[in-house]
Amino acid sequence: MTAWKASSGDEDCGTGSPCGCEEAIDRLFEYLDAEVPDADCLRIAAHLAVCAGCHDAAGAEKHVRELIRRSCVEAAPEELRVRVVASLSMLRVDSGPATA
Ligand SMILES: [Zn+2]
Repeated sequence: MTAWKASSGDEDCGTGSPCGCEEAIDRLFEYLDAEVPDADCLRIAAHLAVCAGCHDAAGAEKHVRELIRRSCVEAAPEELRVRVVASLSMLRVDSGPATA
């Protein structure tokens, strides 16, 4: 009988994706930060290409990073922040403290 090797181990011999979901997710941040070695980067990229779940996770993370980067660039100037805080405290004075 042919030994159909049961997929009990994580080792993938050649075919299929050499990188599993666990590793892909585990190293997703490093991967997006380009902090993984080229070889691992390729393996993770290959996994993301075939795994919808991890692909979505990577896409969502990229999207979040994009938003953060954009909001950092468009951060309100200190002057505006001070004015907002000032008007907020004025409002508080106007309406007075909630009757206790
Ligand atoms: Zn996956």
